[in-house]
Amino acid sequence: MDCLFCKIAAGEIPSTKVYEDEFVYAFLDIEPQAPFHAIIIPRQHISGADKINGENSILIAKVFEAVAKIAEKENLEKGFRVVNNCGEEGGQTVGHIHFHLLARRNLAWPPG
Ligand code: 5GP
Ligand code: ZN
Repeated sequence: MDCLFCKIAAGEIPSTKVYEDEFVYAFLDIEPQAPFHAIIIPRQHISGADKINGENSILIAKVFEAVAKIAEKENLEKGFRVVNNCGEEGGQTVGHIHFHLLARRNLAWPPG
């Protein structure tokens, strides 16, 4: 499948790894929106949050387990934000579900 994030998870396209395990791969965003900005993905291709179901939702739980591990490893005890963009109006530009982990600055709310 011609998917950028599948290729990154497979190591076919280089990335700066932040965390990996059997289910999840995490890497630094190429265009960071915060001093710490990682992208966390399930290795399995799911196109977006609108395709989460009873068969694959365990992988989303694995993503959030990874969030907690990365937060501890990167000393993000002051806080962080996890963002998922879904679909055109949601601002999704890569069609493999991913979660942005943003930290090390004050993050405005509402995000706008
Ligand atoms: P989206 O807009 O779909 O929620 O987020 C896609 C994110 O992937 C963007 O923040 C963008 O900077 C990042 N991105 C796109 N292409 C690459 C790439 O080749 N390498 C890395 N590390 N990040 C990428
Ligand atoms: Zn993919």
